[in-house]
Amino acid sequence: MSFTAVYLSKEGDNFSAALKTLEDDELESNPASGGDVVVRIDHSGINYKDGLAIANRSPVVRAWPMVAGVDGAGTVESSSDPKWKAGDRVVITGWGLGETHWGCLSQRARLKGEWLVALPESFSTAQAMSIGTAGFTAMLSCLAVRNEGVESGSGEILVTGASGGVGSIAVAILSSWGYTVVAATGKLNEADYLRELGAADILDRASLSAPGKPLQKERWAAVVDSVGSHTLVNACAQTRYGGIVTACGLAQGMDFPASVAPFILRGVKLVGIDSVMCPMERRESAWNALATDFDARKLAAVTTTIGLGDVFATAEKILAGGIRGRTVVDVNQLP
Ligand code: NDP
Repeated sequence: MSFTAVYLSKEGDNFSAALKTLEDDELESNPASGGDVVVRIDHSGINYKDGLAIANRSPVVRAWPMVAGVDGAGTVESSSDPKWKAGDRVVITGWGLGETHWGCLSQRARLKGEWLVALPESFSTAQAMSIGTAGFTAMLSCLAVRNEGVESGSGEILVTGASGGVGSIAVAILSSWGYTVVAATGKLNEADYLRELGAADILDRASLSAPGKPLQKERWAAVVDSVGSHTLVNACAQTRYGGIVTACGLAQGMDFPASVAPFILRGVKLVGIDSVMCPMERRESAWNALATDFDARKLAAVTTTIGLGDVFATAEKILAGGIRGRTVVDVNQLP
């Protein structure tokens, strides 16, 4: 059987990204595509990392040729892993998909059974990818805030990169948990969107993006950051005594030009968030929390759906910071 995928190849300096029709046996024979479960993918997503890979903007891909797509949701077609059987609905994020292992911007994928999470019944595959890697990472960040003991009445929570994938879902989760959320964004024209998701207040991200003093006026009980660089440094410098800052992203930059002052003088705790190699137990509890503890009706406002052929233009757009919320890819919508 044949299927269509977003196929990235590189020979010397010659990079190409295009839709390609592949045969099933290539899923078996390619060393970057091993696994005991074949999944018919319904939906994937465009994450920042997909943008980097598809636009060849940073060394995300480490095995060539590569099928792009760091996440996907679909139905098991066949499995030699006893945990899974044909017909099971599954979701997958990370584990090197689209980097070292053929990913899910594809109508089919061969995956390791131990990587798969059973899709909670309440979600369609489209909703699962509306959450996707970004929303899953947002949930890991929000759970860290809650598990570190920050209570809903403890003060304002800052979410940076708020109109992006991680930021939008973090605003929605935290506000539905009763926290007072301040959304920092460069897209002030998206203030209504962010308020609809639950933000109590909007902050111009320019107030956080330049170098600042090591200790600033204490404001935030906690911070969910996906931006890094000076934004993360300023967020730490403005966090109240004993507060929590989670760091998962680098939309402004990978640097962290900080002082230790917030950590040693205010006991601020910086918590790193990684979704890619996150252990299965934490994955399952984050997906369960998304199913039970989050108002999925908010996903409609967050989501734009595109077809498989639209991913190339969307990759450029996400790198330019021009995407609002999450972009879901219907992999069966072909040009
Ligand atoms: P998006 O592109 O959807 O969102 C990023 C947002 O950051 C933008 O929408 C914009 O929001 C803001 N932003 C962009 N450029 C700048 C800038 N120069 N300075 C300040 N803010 C900026 O990406 P995602 O939400 O999917 O991912 C966000 C980050 O998190 C990425 O770096 C990604 O690689 C990382 N990530 C990490 C994961 C992990 O496992 N650790 C998993 C998922 C993502 P606004 O316009 O509202 O300011």
